[in-house]
Amino acid sequence: MIRRPIHPLPDTVIAVIAAGEVIERPATIVKELVENALDAGATEIQITLEDGGKQRLFIQDNGYGIPREELPIAVQKHTTNKIEQYSDLDFLQSYGFRGEALSSIATVSKLTVRSRTHQEDMGTELVVMHGKVSQPTSIGMSIGTQVLVEQLFAKLPARRKFLKSALHERKAILDTITQLSIAATNVAFTVTEQEKTLFYVPAEQSLVERLTYLFGEEFSQQLWPFQYQDTLLKVHGVLGSPQLARRGKPTQHVIVNRRPVSLPSLGTVVREAYGSSVEPKAAPSFILFLDIDPAQIDVNVHPRKETLQWQDESAVFQQLRTALGQHFQVQYQPPSNSPPLKVHDSGRQTLPELHSTLKSSAPTWYHALATKERTILQVHNTYLISETAEGLIIVDQHAAHERVLYNQFLELFHQQLQDRTVAELQPPMVIHLSPSFSNLLTANLETFTAIGCQIEPFGDQSFLIRTLPELLKEHHPQNVIESVLEDIANDVPLNGIDQLAHRTLAYLACRSAVKAGDPITQDQAQVLLEKLQHTSYAFSCPHGRPTIQTFSWHEVEKWFKRK
Ligand code: ADP
Ligand code: MG
Repeated sequence: MIRRPIHPLPDTVIAVIAAGEVIERPATIVKELVENALDAGATEIQITLEDGGKQRLFIQDNGYGIPREELPIAVQKHTTNKIEQYSDLDFLQSYGFRGEALSSIATVSKLTVRSRTHQEDMGTELVVMHGKVSQPTSIGMSIGTQVLVEQLFAKLPARRKFLKSALHERKAILDTITQLSIAATNVAFTVTEQEKTLFYVPAEQSLVERLTYLFGEEFSQQLWPFQYQDTLLKVHGVLGSPQLARRGKPTQHVIVNRRPVSLPSLGTVVREAYGSSVEPKAAPSFILFLDIDPAQIDVNVHPRKETLQWQDESAVFQQLRTALGQHFQVQYQPPSNSPPLKVHDSGRQTLPELHSTLKSSAPTWYHALATKERTILQVHNTYLISETAEGLIIVDQHAAHERVLYNQFLELFHQQLQDRTVAELQPPMVIHLSPSFSNLLTANLETFTAIGCQIEPFGDQSFLIRTLPELLKEHHPQNVIESVLEDIANDVPLNGIDQLAHRTLAYLACRSAVKAGDPITQDQAQVLLEKLQHTSYAFSCPHGRPTIQTFSWHEVEKWFKRK
């Protein structure tokens, strides 16, 4: 290689290179311009596209506008009205602060900006042709700002070649608007192309109203509201039921201080909180708003501000874990409108009693509840087919019963843990385990003690069991402990008492539930469906398999071409 001397690049080249970082494709232009409109307090934002934004992009807002004398400054490099000095980022309230968007867009396109403030009778128009600024002219327009972007990358054929098809670019724009419209539910957004409305949401919506607009009723009916406040963090939003979990792309949005950001590590924290209620390879849907002191985050780590860095990520995530943990605990409680399962009456109802309550025919409280007679058909000795007002349902009897029992056990278990009710074995029982199980148990003795299993090493892979949780006392300790250890050995290592409790109870529920292949009576089926209806997490069993599939009447009608 022949070495050439180092030399500074011409300003025009520097500008194009720098713009390339910010302006990647039409969707990034839309993002910057919509953020500007939001920063200007707009309540209505209209976007018009041509050829998926590749030919022409037009964005109009009703925000506070840019005064005539400042318009030529706004399109210059590094000009902003949002911060004065770097330390202002510690108090940042706006989307913008880099002062780069308008100038970058102007460098790689033909940019027309029109703006009018409420003090002005006329608007001002300015055109920048691939970096060259025109004289401002006066035009009639309503208050706000209009930005037109044409000839994108016309002078940069290499860049233009990297744009995808109109279909792809349009999709990226709609994804961007979806994100921002979730962050700003008070603002109306419209996207049109060739007179066709591609996207519309009205102003002044609640989060759930907006989500219903965006993702439909079926989605928004499966959301749990969520709210939490701690020292570092205020969190609110919605968590999707396990039914909304997806292997591919679940609906996940994270909004930190009003800014939509991509934070995969946060998704992992939420995923963990769902535990086994969603299948192992799937991820839940959620929309979370985090509010944090701006000094605790750095939003200047990405040229397009798509992500951020926490000053203390582990502290933030710890608070989030606590928040989610509390939420899921509450979710396990039966809803207050469902009749009590009588487990608290004595606080000491034994497992067989509880079990027989469930396995017996309809208990009295059920008849009071059953307002509508419905037929349940058992097929294949495994599935229950029935109907609701919304559609046809098919229930896996084992998975459903497992879920119902698991939730009951969990509640009883928490109660017993609180009351410290344990069953003392008289005399203590000695069990003998394989080397690997004995190794696992030794490593987790403390956790077992915490859930009420007082176990002591008894030499040579033997253990002395002194107490068991009340719930377990009817089961053979060796079976329970071995199968829980087996679960632990095959899966993620045990960490904490909640997981041990979960595994133990999941084992109990699985052992006690009706099996696939067991014939059951009409009455038993009625009780099971009724209970399932009043059970949280009803859509999946404790191992994450689905319990119920619903086909809406609409869907059924479509099958038969009635709709
Ligand atoms: P930043 O948003 O980082 O400040 P931009 O290059 O995006 O930088 O915009 C430069 C300035 O132009 C902004 O600080 C703002 O004062 C003004 N501006 C841009 N777009 C609008 C708009 N839609 N409404 C009102 N003012 C705007
Ligand atoms: Mg901006």
